[in-house]
Amino acid sequence: MVNRVVRKNVRRRPGGVAQTAAFAVCGRFGLVRNPAARRLIMSDSDPPGEERFVFECDQLDLLLAALKKHGYRVVGPTVREGAIVYDELRSAADLPVGWSDEQEGGRYRLLKRSDRAHFGYAVGPHSWKQFLHPPVRRLWQASRTQDRLEIVPEKDDPPKTAFLGVRACELHAIQIQDKVFLRGGYSDPSYKARRENAFIVAVNCGHAAGTCFCVSMQCGPKVGAGFDLALTEVVEETRHYFVVQAGSEAGRQILGEIPHREADVSERTAAERIVSRTAEQMGRAMDTTEIKSLLYSNYEHPRWESVAARCLTCGNCTMVCPTCFCTTVEDVTDLSGKHAERWQKWDSCFTTSFSYIHGGSVRPSGYARYRQWMTHKLAAWIDQFGTSGCVGCGRCITWCPVGIDITEEVQAIRSAAPLPARENEENHGNA
Ligand code: SF4
Ligand code: SF4
Repeated sequence: MVNRVVRKNVRRRPGGVAQTAAFAVCGRFGLVRNPAARRLIMSDSDPPGEERFVFECDQLDLLLAALKKHGYRVVGPTVREGAIVYDELRSAADLPVGWSDEQEGGRYRLLKRSDRAHFGYAVGPHSWKQFLHPPVRRLWQASRTQDRLEIVPEKDDPPKTAFLGVRACELHAIQIQDKVFLRGGYSDPSYKARRENAFIVAVNCGHAAGTCFCVSMQCGPKVGAGFDLALTEVVEETRHYFVVQAGSEAGRQILGEIPHREADVSERTAAERIVSRTAEQMGRAMDTTEIKSLLYSNYEHPRWESVAARCLTCGNCTMVCPTCFCTTVEDVTDLSGKHAERWQKWDSCFTTSFSYIHGGSVRPSGYARYRQWMTHKLAAWIDQFGTSGCVGCGRCITWCPVGIDITEEVQAIRSAAPLPARENEENHGNA
């Protein structure tokens, strides 16, 4: 029997300096043996090749089979309980074939499409962070025997996993979490192991939701770098095929195991047209001009009161956000006092316990918590990690039960605020 929560701490960034150093040195001198680890380092610097290939839609199962043959479990989009979520796929038939979505502030509905597109939807409530940075994870167990206490760290041996259907904004979110967990002064060994075991099959978007604003965040809808394979799904009246780009040696190897040929001009053009059409369909936009100074110089703006009056401080926005990374730890014991465990769990800056220090919460009001979340995402994140913490996926807008819209909140502060002093930084998006 377990007696819960003996000790609880908020933990913002994981530790492990030595591993970070080894990782960086290996990357710089090309000494990394694990190709996936090398890909992590390459993702920011080595653009994928220009070649495009084609395979027919009914060969998608061959891609899954090739990935499985190489020991990957394949996770990707599937329909469950009225939403498109990410889970293990047995075959291409598990994909959301013929489904699309309709999204607005506080609203998500699945809609039937008139075709059999496999990736004809925008992002749903899940993100890939659940596989790279699990919501709940045991860190260690301790057992007391008569004369000693034994602490056994959790063995972390994540399976090789292929992510099928990673969108451009999600790829940016993964790269942002790479900065949080792998670069700088600290490295998280659990994230690192999962990331090194990941094979990424990206998909260029052919449909934008009403809450998408990746174009204004310079994060989509076309995938840039950091993938193994990138697909563009082309559905025509008489033909259904994928235009494919390889982004790594591992990707070329997998592609080599399925029948494909070089794309001709009309196939390449069709794929390009799909992505540019999606870019024109963005439901929203965020003006990121000098956004850091804008937010830093408006801590007392009346708009924070207005948003706090609507915000339920439920934390949904942080749970669905693909870049939010904060965790807490909980220690649990059994009643005999002989066994204890420490668990890491996702936390949210919308809880009062998140900022609890010695006798009280630093942010007791919804005003302070919403301001903290948005100012961290769009301003302090730039100081910490060199990019915005927002990729424009729109999840926090769709899954907010009262439809609070981060783009609208920024605009409200911008339109009623005095112009901030000019900043040195050129880029406040994710270019
Ligand atoms: S902004 Fe919306 S989703 Fe986020 S805590 Fe407030 S009510 Fe919940
Ligand atoms: S803040 Fe909202 S729109 Fe931006 S990345 Fe997070 S969930 Fe997506």
